[in-house]
Amino acid sequence: MRAIDTVLFDLDDTLHDDTTAYLSAARAVADGVARERGIDAQALVDAYEAAAMAFWSSLSSEHLTHSIGDERERMWHEALERVGIGDRALAVRCADGYVRARTQALELTPGSLDVLTALRERGCKLGLVTNGFAATHHDKIDRLGLRERMDAFFLADEVGMVKPDPELFRHACRVLGSEPARTAMVGDRYARDIVGAHEAGLFTVLLDVHAIPVPENGPQPDAVIASIADVLDVLPLGAPRGADFRSAEPIPRE
Ligand SMILES: [Mg+2]
Repeated sequence: MRAIDTVLFDLDDTLHDDTTAYLSAARAVADGVARERGIDAQALVDAYEAAAMAFWSSLSSEHLTHSIGDERERMWHEALERVGIGDRALAVRCADGYVRARTQALELTPGSLDVLTALRERGCKLGLVTNGFAATHHDKIDRLGLRERMDAFFLADEVGMVKPDPELFRHACRVLGSEPARTAMVGDRYARDIVGAHEAGLFTVLLDVHAIPVPENGPQPDAVIASIADVLDVLPLGAPRGADFRSAEPIPRE
């Protein structure tokens, strides 16, 4: 049986409830627009959600040179147009308000900290692999208190790769001084978190929070869990390692 000594985590909707955070921020912005312009707030939320889903689900390495701030304004402009408002200045205001509202709604998924603490106590190295951009996600990492709890952070535009590129997972293993066969990837999106990590040879854990069935004709996750707190039950961790394991392999911070 393989023994895992390194665990990579996705951030959004894995270690924190991003869907609730972004929809509540979008709703706060849409309520303001509804008061000002008399549109249906929920229709604007739905339009923004559609624009955001389209952007994130089609994210490729070509997008990484774009400013996420500009993309956010473009998404709000697209959403406003769908409810009949073509107003660039309003789109800029919406994007600003949205970013402010997002920072109010950041919270770790219940059980996340306990899982990270327990894995470190077992001598595991921990990494964060996100398709988020440096302009937003370093702040998010700090606000969520994850900075000191992980050994390395892999943000899409900093590494120049996006999930599901298998090379991104191999890169993370190299930086952390581990081997893919001894590394696990935990994430909530089958296509982004599981497929590429599986191809790179990692042990894969799907956090099933979206109730989307895993395609039968694709690679299957090694484990499926309903809550982040269940990670410890499914990882083949092997015997606990001592402190000498962590100090034996210094990990580059950048
Ligand atoms: Mg995610």
